[in-house]
Amino acid sequence: MVERTVIKLRWPAARIVTVGLVVLAVVGLSWGLVGLQVLAQGDPPPAGDNFGMASSDVQWTVGELAFQSNYPAGFQFQAEIRSSAGPIVRGRVIWSHVPGTQRSRPVNVDPDTGTLTAVWDATGSDAVPPWVGLMYYWDVGDSEGNAFQTEPQYVEYEDTTHDWVRTETDDIIVFAQNLPDEVGPLVADAMAAQREMYRAAWGGLLPYKPRAILFGSRGAWLEWQITTVNYSTIGLTSDDWGGTGQVVSGGGLTDLAYGTVLHEVAHLYQNEFTLMVPGSWLIEGNATFFELNQQYNYESSVRHLAASGNLPVLLQGTGPGVSGRNARRGYDIGYTFWKWLVDNYGLEGHRQLIELLDQGIGRVAAIETVTGLTAQDVESRWRTWLGASALPPTLVPTPTFLIFPTIAPLGY
Ligand SMILES: [Zn+2]
Repeated sequence: MVERTVIKLRWPAARIVTVGLVVLAVVGLSWGLVGLQVLAQGDPPPAGDNFGMASSDVQWTVGELAFQSNYPAGFQFQAEIRSSAGPIVRGRVIWSHVPGTQRSRPVNVDPDTGTLTAVWDATGSDAVPPWVGLMYYWDVGDSEGNAFQTEPQYVEYEDTTHDWVRTETDDIIVFAQNLPDEVGPLVADAMAAQREMYRAAWGGLLPYKPRAILFGSRGAWLEWQITTVNYSTIGLTSDDWGGTGQVVSGGGLTDLAYGTVLHEVAHLYQNEFTLMVPGSWLIEGNATFFELNQQYNYESSVRHLAASGNLPVLLQGTGPGVSGRNARRGYDIGYTFWKWLVDNYGLEGHRQLIELLDQGIGRVAAIETVTGLTAQDVESRWRTWLGASALPPTLVPTPTFLIFPTIAPLGY
Protein backbone atom coordinates (compact mmCIF):
# COMPACT_ATOMS: atom_id res chain seq x y z
CA MET A 1 0.00 0.00 0.00
CA VAL A 2 1.20 3.45 -0.77
CA GLU A 3 1.97 5.80 2.05
CA ARG A 4 -0.47 8.57 2.69
CA THR A 5 0.39 11.72 4.51
CA VAL A 6 -1.56 13.33 7.29
CA ILE A 7 -0.83 16.89 8.16
CA LYS A 8 -2.10 18.52 11.31
CA LEU A 9 -1.83 22.22 10.91
CA ARG A 10 -3.42 23.50 14.05
CA TRP A 11 -5.59 22.72 16.98
CA PRO A 12 -9.22 23.50 16.43
CA ALA A 13 -10.72 26.00 18.87
CA ALA A 14 -12.90 23.25 20.30
CA ARG A 15 -9.80 21.31 21.26
CA ILE A 16 -8.35 24.30 23.08
CA VAL A 17 -11.54 24.67 25.09
CA THR A 18 -11.35 21.01 26.07
CA VAL A 19 -7.79 21.38 27.27
CA GLY A 20 -8.80 24.49 29.20
CA LEU A 21 -11.49 22.54 31.00
CA VAL A 22 -9.03 19.84 31.94
CA VAL A 23 -6.50 22.32 33.27
CA LEU A 24 -9.15 24.11 35.32
CA ALA A 25 -10.37 20.83 36.76
CA VAL A 26 -6.86 19.77 37.67
CA VAL A 27 -5.95 22.93 39.55
CA GLY A 28 -9.37 23.08 41.19
CA LEU A 29 -10.22 26.60 40.08
CA SER A 30 -13.63 27.78 39.02
CA TRP A 31 -12.90 30.54 36.56
CA GLY A 32 -15.80 29.27 34.56
CA LEU A 33 -16.72 31.05 31.40
CA VAL A 34 -14.26 33.89 31.74
CA GLY A 35 -11.28 31.62 31.23
CA LEU A 36 -13.01 29.65 28.51
CA GLN A 37 -13.98 32.70 26.53
CA VAL A 38 -10.41 33.85 26.49
CA LEU A 39 -9.38 30.49 25.11
CA ALA A 40 -12.16 30.17 22.55
CA GLN A 41 -10.81 32.76 20.18
CA GLY A 42 -12.02 31.09 17.02
CA ASP A 43 -15.61 32.24 17.36
CA PRO A 44 -16.55 35.42 15.57
CA PRO A 45 -18.42 38.01 17.62
CA PRO A 46 -22.10 38.33 16.77
CA ALA A 47 -22.90 40.09 13.53
CA GLY A 48 -23.67 43.78 13.81
CA ASP A 49 -21.55 44.60 16.87
CA ASN A 50 -20.30 48.13 16.78
CA PHE A 51 -17.96 47.83 19.76
CA GLY A 52 -19.54 50.81 21.51
CA MET A 53 -17.38 53.30 19.69
CA ALA A 54 -19.87 55.30 17.74
CA SER A 55 -23.43 56.33 17.10
CA SER A 56 -26.06 53.63 17.34
CA ASP A 57 -28.20 54.98 14.52
CA VAL A 58 -25.74 54.22 11.74
CA GLN A 59 -27.35 52.47 8.77
CA TRP A 60 -25.46 49.70 7.02
CA THR A 61 -26.36 48.71 3.49
CA VAL A 62 -25.15 45.44 2.03
CA GLY A 63 -25.32 45.05 -1.73
CA GLU A 64 -23.91 42.19 -3.74
CA LEU A 65 -21.49 39.79 -2.03
CA ALA A 66 -19.43 37.92 -4.61
CA PHE A 67 -16.89 35.12 -4.44
CA GLN A 68 -14.66 34.11 -7.31
CA SER A 69 -12.50 31.03 -7.48
CA ASN A 70 -9.24 31.50 -9.36
CA TYR A 71 -8.33 27.87 -8.84
CA PRO A 72 -5.56 26.78 -8.48
CA ALA A 73 -4.12 30.26 -7.82
CA GLY A 74 -6.54 31.19 -5.02
CA PHE A 75 -9.80 33.09 -4.72
CA GLN A 76 -11.17 36.55 -4.13
CA PHE A 77 -14.11 38.25 -2.49
CA GLN A 78 -15.96 41.37 -3.56
CA ALA A 79 -18.68 43.33 -1.77
CA GLU A 80 -20.72 46.51 -1.80
CA ILE A 81 -21.13 47.55 1.83
CA ARG A 82 -22.00 51.12 2.83
CA SER A 83 -22.22 52.93 6.16
CA SER A 84 -24.44 56.01 6.53
CA ALA A 85 -21.85 57.55 8.86
CA GLY A 86 -18.79 57.55 6.62
CA PRO A 87 -16.65 55.65 4.14
CA ILE A 88 -15.32 52.19 4.88
CA VAL A 89 -11.72 52.53 6.03
CA ARG A 90 -10.80 49.08 7.26
CA GLY A 91 -11.88 45.49 7.17
CA ARG A 92 -11.11 41.83 6.66
CA VAL A 93 -12.72 38.83 5.12
CA ILE A 94 -12.56 35.94 7.56
CA TRP A 95 -13.20 32.35 6.51
CA SER A 96 -13.16 28.82 7.87
CA HIS A 97 -12.84 25.63 5.88
CA VAL A 98 -13.96 23.64 8.93
CA PRO A 99 -15.19 24.84 12.32
CA GLY A 100 -12.33 25.89 14.55
CA THR A 101 -9.94 26.93 11.78
CA GLN A 102 -9.67 30.46 10.51
CA ARG A 103 -7.93 32.43 7.80
CA SER A 104 -8.37 36.03 6.78
CA ARG A 105 -7.25 38.67 4.30
CA PRO A 106 -7.44 42.46 4.56
CA VAL A 107 -9.98 44.45 2.60
CA ASN A 108 -9.05 46.80 -0.20
CA VAL A 109 -11.36 49.78 -0.73
CA ASP A 110 -11.62 51.17 -4.27
CA PRO A 111 -11.26 54.95 -3.76
CA ASP A 112 -13.56 55.76 -6.69
CA THR A 113 -16.37 53.23 -6.39
CA GLY A 114 -16.12 52.18 -2.75
CA THR A 115 -16.16 48.54 -3.85
CA LEU A 116 -14.48 46.22 -1.36
CA THR A 117 -12.20 43.38 -2.39
CA ALA A 118 -10.07 40.84 -0.57
CA VAL A 119 -7.74 38.40 -2.29
CA TRP A 120 -6.23 35.11 -1.20
CA ASP A 121 -3.32 33.95 -3.34
CA ALA A 122 -2.46 30.32 -2.83
CA THR A 123 1.15 29.66 -2.02
CA GLY A 124 2.96 26.39 -1.55
CA SER A 125 2.56 26.27 2.18
CA ASP A 126 -1.11 27.10 2.44
CA ALA A 127 -2.54 25.83 -0.85
CA VAL A 128 -5.73 23.85 -0.57
CA PRO A 129 -7.25 21.41 -3.05
CA PRO A 130 -10.23 22.33 -5.21
CA TRP A 131 -13.71 22.00 -3.78
CA VAL A 132 -12.94 22.79 -0.18
CA GLY A 133 -15.82 24.70 1.40
CA LEU A 134 -15.62 28.15 2.94
CA MET A 135 -17.86 29.84 5.48
CA TYR A 136 -16.90 33.49 5.28
CA TYR A 137 -18.01 36.88 6.48
CA TRP A 138 -16.91 40.49 6.03
CA ASP A 139 -15.83 42.46 9.10
CA VAL A 140 -15.57 46.17 8.19
CA GLY A 141 -15.32 49.54 9.89
CA ASP A 142 -16.15 53.09 8.76
CA SER A 143 -14.32 56.37 9.29
CA GLU A 144 -16.45 57.14 12.35
CA GLY A 145 -15.44 53.99 14.20
CA ASN A 146 -18.58 51.97 13.49
CA ALA A 147 -18.07 48.26 12.84
CA PHE A 148 -20.21 45.79 10.94
CA GLN A 149 -20.17 42.11 10.09
CA THR A 150 -22.11 40.41 7.36
CA GLU A 151 -24.03 37.18 7.81
CA PRO A 152 -21.84 34.13 7.10
CA GLN A 153 -21.88 32.93 3.49
CA TYR A 154 -21.07 29.44 2.20
CA VAL A 155 -19.13 28.90 -1.03
CA GLU A 156 -16.83 26.30 -2.55
CA TYR A 157 -13.40 26.72 -4.13
CA GLU A 158 -14.50 25.39 -7.47
CA ASP A 159 -12.32 24.06 -10.25
CA THR A 160 -13.95 24.76 -13.60
CA THR A 161 -10.92 23.62 -15.59
CA HIS A 162 -11.86 19.93 -15.25
CA ASP A 163 -15.12 18.01 -15.22
CA TRP A 164 -16.06 17.05 -11.69
CA VAL A 165 -18.99 15.03 -10.38
CA ARG A 166 -20.31 15.98 -6.95
CA THR A 167 -22.11 13.56 -4.63
CA GLU A 168 -23.32 14.71 -1.23
CA THR A 169 -25.00 12.70 1.54
CA ASP A 170 -25.39 13.14 5.31
CA ASP A 171 -21.94 11.60 5.79
CA ILE A 172 -19.64 13.04 3.15
CA ILE A 173 -19.23 15.20 0.07
CA VAL A 174 -17.44 13.43 -2.76
CA PHE A 175 -15.87 15.15 -5.76
CA ALA A 176 -14.69 12.88 -8.53
CA GLN A 177 -12.68 13.87 -11.58
CA ASN A 178 -12.11 11.59 -14.57
CA LEU A 179 -13.51 8.60 -12.70
CA PRO A 180 -16.42 6.20 -13.27
CA ASP A 181 -19.85 7.50 -12.28
CA GLU A 182 -20.29 4.95 -9.50
CA VAL A 183 -17.40 6.33 -7.40
CA GLY A 184 -19.43 8.96 -5.55
CA PRO A 185 -22.32 6.66 -4.59
CA LEU A 186 -19.85 3.92 -3.61
CA VAL A 187 -17.97 6.24 -1.23
CA ALA A 188 -21.29 7.47 0.15
CA ASP A 189 -22.37 3.87 0.80
CA ALA A 190 -19.08 3.09 2.55
CA MET A 191 -19.42 6.11 4.82
CA ALA A 192 -23.02 5.22 5.67
CA ALA A 193 -21.99 1.66 6.46
CA GLN A 194 -19.30 2.87 8.85
CA ARG A 195 -21.25 5.74 10.44
CA GLU A 196 -22.37 4.01 13.65
CA MET A 197 -18.97 2.47 14.21
CA TYR A 198 -17.33 5.89 13.97
CA ARG A 199 -19.93 7.27 16.36
CA ALA A 200 -19.44 4.54 18.96
CA ALA A 201 -15.65 4.45 18.70
CA TRP A 202 -15.14 8.21 18.94
CA GLY A 203 -18.08 9.19 21.11
CA GLY A 204 -19.64 11.28 18.34
CA LEU A 205 -19.49 12.08 14.65
CA LEU A 206 -17.21 14.71 13.13
CA PRO A 207 -18.60 18.20 13.72
CA TYR A 208 -18.37 18.85 9.97
CA LYS A 209 -19.08 16.90 6.81
CA PRO A 210 -15.77 15.57 5.49
CA ARG A 211 -14.83 15.77 1.80
CA ALA A 212 -13.28 13.16 -0.44
CA ILE A 213 -11.69 14.87 -3.42
CA LEU A 214 -10.76 12.14 -5.86
CA PHE A 215 -8.50 12.87 -8.80
CA GLY A 216 -8.61 10.53 -11.76
CA SER A 217 -5.58 12.16 -13.33
CA ARG A 218 -2.24 12.85 -11.76
CA GLY A 219 -1.87 16.11 -13.65
CA ALA A 220 -5.02 17.49 -12.06
CA TRP A 221 -3.75 16.45 -8.63
CA LEU A 222 -0.39 18.17 -9.09
CA GLU A 223 -1.98 21.47 -10.16
CA TRP A 224 -3.13 22.58 -6.73
CA GLN A 225 0.17 21.99 -4.96
CA ILE A 226 1.61 25.22 -6.41
CA THR A 227 5.23 25.05 -5.27
CA THR A 228 5.72 22.23 -2.78
CA VAL A 229 5.08 19.38 -5.17
CA ASN A 230 6.03 16.05 -3.70
CA TYR A 231 5.81 13.67 -6.61
CA SER A 232 5.68 10.61 -4.41
CA THR A 233 2.62 11.79 -2.52
CA ILE A 234 -0.64 10.49 -3.90
CA GLY A 235 -2.89 11.52 -1.06
CA LEU A 236 -3.25 14.13 1.61
CA THR A 237 -5.65 14.33 4.51
CA SER A 238 -6.00 17.50 6.55
CA ASP A 239 -8.22 18.68 9.34
CA ASP A 240 -7.36 22.21 8.23
CA TRP A 241 -9.73 21.85 5.29
CA GLY A 242 -11.62 18.84 6.54
CA GLY A 243 -11.07 16.18 3.97
CA THR A 244 -8.88 13.89 1.99
CA GLY A 245 -7.52 14.33 -1.50
CA GLN A 246 -6.47 11.18 -3.33
CA VAL A 247 -5.06 10.34 -6.72
CA VAL A 248 -6.86 7.27 -7.98
CA SER A 249 -4.67 5.11 -10.16
CA GLY A 250 -5.17 1.40 -10.41
CA GLY A 251 -6.71 -0.50 -7.54
CA GLY A 252 -10.40 -1.20 -7.38
CA LEU A 253 -13.07 1.37 -6.67
CA THR A 254 -14.33 -0.80 -3.82
CA ASP A 255 -10.97 -0.56 -2.08
CA LEU A 256 -10.91 3.19 -2.70
CA ALA A 257 -14.33 3.64 -1.07
CA TYR A 258 -14.33 0.97 1.63
CA GLY A 259 -10.59 1.02 2.27
CA THR A 260 -8.79 4.27 1.53
CA VAL A 261 -11.56 6.79 2.23
CA LEU A 262 -12.64 5.15 5.50
CA HIS A 263 -8.99 5.00 6.60
CA GLU A 264 -8.41 8.67 5.80
CA VAL A 265 -11.66 9.78 7.44
CA ALA A 266 -10.48 7.93 10.58
CA HIS A 267 -7.43 10.24 10.52
CA LEU A 268 -9.83 13.20 10.57
CA TYR A 269 -11.51 11.68 13.64
CA GLN A 270 -8.12 11.28 15.28
CA ASN A 271 -7.31 14.92 14.68
CA GLU A 272 -10.70 16.00 15.95
CA PHE A 273 -11.01 13.81 19.03
CA THR A 274 -7.61 12.99 20.36
CA LEU A 275 -3.89 13.54 20.45
CA MET A 276 -1.80 10.86 18.82
CA VAL A 277 1.72 10.96 17.54
CA PRO A 278 1.58 11.11 13.72
CA GLY A 279 3.54 8.42 12.00
CA SER A 280 3.14 5.84 14.74
CA TRP A 281 1.79 2.28 14.64
CA LEU A 282 -0.91 3.44 17.05
CA ILE A 283 -2.28 6.07 14.66
CA GLU A 284 -1.87 4.08 11.42
CA GLY A 285 -3.14 0.88 13.01
CA ASN A 286 -6.13 2.81 14.28
CA ALA A 287 -6.98 4.25 10.87
CA THR A 288 -6.51 0.81 9.32
CA PHE A 289 -8.95 -0.59 11.89
CA PHE A 290 -11.72 1.49 10.27
CA GLU A 291 -11.21 0.04 6.79
CA LEU A 292 -14.09 -2.17 5.75
CA ASN A 293 -12.16 -3.50 2.76
CA GLN A 294 -8.72 -4.94 3.37
CA GLN A 295 -6.22 -5.23 0.54
CA TYR A 296 -5.28 -8.61 1.99
CA ASN A 297 -5.94 -10.24 5.34
CA TYR A 298 -3.97 -8.02 7.72
CA GLU A 299 -4.49 -10.17 10.80
CA SER A 300 -3.44 -13.31 9.00
CA SER A 301 -0.29 -11.58 7.79
CA VAL A 302 0.65 -10.66 11.37
CA ARG A 303 -0.16 -14.19 12.52
CA HIS A 304 2.35 -15.47 10.00
CA LEU A 305 4.89 -13.04 11.40
CA ALA A 306 4.13 -14.27 14.91
CA ALA A 307 4.48 -17.89 13.88
CA SER A 308 7.88 -17.13 12.41
CA GLY A 309 9.04 -15.77 15.77
CA ASN A 310 9.50 -12.22 14.45
CA LEU A 311 6.66 -10.35 16.11
CA PRO A 312 8.30 -7.17 17.45
CA VAL A 313 7.74 -5.53 20.80
CA LEU A 314 4.74 -3.23 20.77
CA LEU A 315 4.66 -1.17 23.96
CA GLN A 316 8.34 -0.53 24.46
CA GLY A 317 10.04 2.46 22.89
CA THR A 318 8.33 3.60 19.73
CA GLY A 319 7.28 0.09 18.69
CA PRO A 320 7.07 -1.00 15.06
CA GLY A 321 7.82 1.70 12.49
CA VAL A 322 5.33 2.75 9.83
CA SER A 323 7.72 4.18 7.27
CA GLY A 324 10.43 2.81 5.04
CA ARG A 325 10.71 -0.70 3.70
CA ASN A 326 8.60 -2.34 6.43
CA ALA A 327 5.97 0.39 6.59
CA ARG A 328 3.08 -1.87 5.74
CA ARG A 329 4.06 -4.27 8.50
CA GLY A 330 3.74 -1.48 11.08
CA TYR A 331 0.24 -0.70 9.83
CA ASP A 332 -0.76 -4.34 10.09
CA ILE A 333 0.70 -4.84 13.56
CA GLY A 334 -0.98 -1.66 14.75
CA TYR A 335 -4.22 -2.90 13.26
CA THR A 336 -4.02 -6.12 15.28
CA PHE A 337 -3.55 -4.16 18.49
CA TRP A 338 -6.79 -2.19 17.90
CA LYS A 339 -8.57 -5.38 16.81
CA TRP A 340 -7.46 -7.09 20.02
CA LEU A 341 -8.49 -4.11 22.13
CA VAL A 342 -11.98 -3.86 20.61
CA ASP A 343 -12.49 -7.63 20.65
CA ASN A 344 -11.86 -7.57 24.40
CA TYR A 345 -13.05 -4.15 25.54
CA GLY A 346 -15.51 -3.16 22.83
CA LEU A 347 -15.82 0.13 21.00
CA GLU A 348 -16.35 1.58 24.48
CA GLY A 349 -12.76 0.59 25.22
CA HIS A 350 -11.70 2.38 22.04
CA ARG A 351 -13.53 5.51 23.12
CA GLN A 352 -12.02 5.39 26.63
CA LEU A 353 -8.52 5.06 25.25
CA ILE A 354 -9.11 7.99 22.89
CA GLU A 355 -10.32 10.16 25.77
CA LEU A 356 -7.32 9.33 27.94
CA LEU A 357 -4.92 10.10 25.10
CA ASP A 358 -6.78 13.35 24.51
CA GLN A 359 -6.14 14.30 28.13
CA GLY A 360 -2.44 13.94 27.49
CA ILE A 361 -2.02 10.59 29.25
CA GLY A 362 0.87 8.61 27.79
CA ARG A 363 -0.18 5.74 25.56
CA VAL A 364 1.12 2.96 27.81
CA ALA A 365 -0.55 4.39 30.91
CA ALA A 366 -3.76 4.94 28.95
CA ILE A 367 -3.77 1.35 27.68
CA GLU A 368 -3.14 0.08 31.21
CA THR A 369 -6.05 2.13 32.52
CA VAL A 370 -8.51 0.91 29.89
CA THR A 371 -7.52 -2.75 30.18
CA GLY A 372 -6.86 -2.84 33.92
CA LEU A 373 -3.67 -4.76 33.04
CA THR A 374 0.00 -3.97 33.24
CA ALA A 375 1.72 -3.16 29.97
CA GLN A 376 3.52 -6.49 30.20
CA ASP A 377 0.21 -8.35 30.52
CA VAL A 378 -1.25 -6.45 27.57
CA GLU A 379 1.79 -7.31 25.49
CA SER A 380 1.63 -10.99 26.52
CA ARG A 381 -2.08 -11.36 25.85
CA TRP A 382 -1.88 -9.63 22.47
CA ARG A 383 1.09 -11.81 21.49
CA THR A 384 -0.55 -15.02 22.67
CA TRP A 385 -3.73 -14.15 20.77
CA LEU A 386 -1.63 -13.84 17.63
CA GLY A 387 0.03 -17.19 18.26
CA ALA A 388 3.41 -15.87 19.36
CA SER A 389 5.30 -16.67 22.54
CA ALA A 390 3.93 -14.76 25.50
CA LEU A 391 7.17 -12.95 26.23
CA PRO A 392 8.64 -10.39 23.88
CA PRO A 393 12.44 -10.12 23.76
CA THR A 394 12.62 -7.40 26.44
CA LEU A 395 10.07 -5.14 27.98
CA VAL A 396 11.01 -2.35 30.32
CA PRO A 397 8.55 -0.07 32.07
CA THR A 398 7.89 3.17 30.24
CA PRO A 399 7.53 6.24 32.41
CA THR A 400 4.20 8.00 32.05
CA PHE A 401 3.66 11.71 31.79
CA LEU A 402 0.80 14.11 32.14
CA ILE A 403 1.26 16.60 29.36
CA PHE A 404 -0.58 19.87 29.08
CA PRO A 405 0.18 22.73 26.77
CA THR A 406 1.85 25.66 28.45
CA ILE A 407 -0.65 28.48 28.76
CA ALA A 408 1.10 30.84 31.16
CA PRO A 409 4.24 32.51 29.78
CA LEU A 410 6.69 30.32 31.63
CA GLY A 411 9.41 30.88 29.10
CA TYR A 412 10.02 27.30 27.93
ZN1 LIG B 1 -2.99 6.45 7.39
